[in-house]
Amino acid sequence: MAENLPVEEFQLEKLELETIQNALNKNLSKFFEKVSVSVSDCPDLTQEPYNLATEGIGGEGSVLLDIGGPPYLIPLVNREKVYDLAKLIPKHVGKEEFPDGWYACGAGAGPWPTFNSNCEMVINLKLDKDGNCVTNKSKVALTSSGNEDELTVKQLGNDESRCALLANLLVSGGTGKILEVKCTRRIDKSSNFTAAIRQALKEEFGEEKPVALGGLFTVKLSDTKIHVMRDFTNTPLETDDDVNNWLKFFHIKPPMLFQSVLVSTDPGLDLRIEHAHGWNLNGERSEAGHYHYDDMPDTVEYHGIYAVANKIIRIDRPQQTHQLGRD
Ligand code: ZN
Repeated sequence: MAENLPVEEFQLEKLELETIQNALNKNLSKFFEKVSVSVSDCPDLTQEPYNLATEGIGGEGSVLLDIGGPPYLIPLVNREKVYDLAKLIPKHVGKEEFPDGWYACGAGAGPWPTFNSNCEMVINLKLDKDGNCVTNKSKVALTSSGNEDELTVKQLGNDESRCALLANLLVSGGTGKILEVKCTRRIDKSSNFTAAIRQALKEEFGEEKPVALGGLFTVKLSDTKIHVMRDFTNTPLETDDDVNNWLKFFHIKPPMLFQSVLVSTDPGLDLRIEHAHGWNLNGERSEAGHYHYDDMPDTVEYHGIYAVANKIIRIDRPQQTHQLGRD
């Protein structure tokens, strides 16, 4: 792993939670029949139904991290790109607003050397103030090239804090006030929950003022379309069709829980502007993957819990980029 990765930082303008709340209440109604956005205390996320690695988000320190990118995966994999979050987060996020350690949640590619295969990673881990991984609820989802129904989910232990190729994370220092976003019945059939939030923010704050959110959402009363990457291919993926044929798609029964990060607009950092990975909570077979959209917009219920980031940190941005594989 490269030790000295290039790093860029973008300071976000501080907005009151109520300002964002009002914008979402106003603009999300174009996408959903029923919208209710409030400013609330974060619930205890270690409890049901969440069972996550932190008691809460929304405290003083909240940063969005964008590591690597699709160009390290597409057209062909760069196997040098393996990142240890337990080293990288303390080093690049720092301790100033994180005296008790760091909680990281989001979406990325899993540590392929451990599983001897490419995989999706739902990132959810807690580092103590010395950078030790003390709670790791992260999971990876793997699939084979052959059996089209095969989907395997594995839990990571505290001894594995790596991801690979690309990751989009909220890093949070503790619990506080959050935006609670409840949306029911999607009326914009071309959108999804996270794209709707991004567009609602962009409409209010414009191209010049990015707003970055990170946290989680649940999907109820609808199946969810997800994808899982197959193992790395030796055939270059040159087009969106190539990528879509390589990915495997699944439709997962509710409820699902996703870790989610999004930015209303990219301030020129070649960001992945939205990314959500999650797992099911329905108690049947274990399933996980990358969020696309709800399959049943006429009934779907979303419940999001989001912290507002004060900074974006861009780590190991690819020098040569493209727009493939960003859906
Ligand atoms: Zn993904």
